[in-house]
Amino acid sequence: MTIRTSSEEETIQAGARLAGELRGIVLLKGDLGAGKTTLVRGIVAGIPGAQADEVSSPTFTLIHDYGAGVFHIDLYRLDTERQVESLGLDDIFDQAHLVLVEWGEKLGYLIPPKRTEITIEPEADSRRLIHISRFGE
Ligand code: ADP
Ligand code: MG
Repeated sequence: MTIRTSSEEETIQAGARLAGELRGIVLLKGDLGAGKTTLVRGIVAGIPGAQADEVSSPTFTLIHDYGAGVFHIDLYRLDTERQVESLGLDDIFDQAHLVLVEWGEKLGYLIPPKRTEITIEPEADSRRLIHISRFGE
């Protein structure tokens, strides 16, 4: 599925609409400034009980717990698979309702077969293409 947006606000709205359909591990891909964190803000806003206030970018916090079983992980600053391993994400992956992972490709072998991938592709001006694919279902 592909969604088109023309502004930051539209991406937030798209995230909120998408929220109910997302669960498990969601990898967010796209270059710096593509809109991954913005989309996460919308998704979190669309989940009752999750608190979106703390969503910010960039941030030094690697793992955010927004409540309602919703986690947001940003691996941008991690360079090696060993660093990713040391986060001990297994518990979160096993128990969370929803885990949104920016730069999820850095998970390497920890990428679960069953997952959703969202790729954000910037186009001219403020337009974005948001591609959503499910794997392992
Ligand atoms: P990332 O997390 O992928 O690095 P951010 O979400 O932090 O990206 O930043 C996206 C930037 O692009 C913001 O400055 C936002 O205002 C801008 N922007 C412009 N158009 C859009 C759009 N359609 N959707 C999302 N962000 C947009
Ligand atoms: Mg980001």
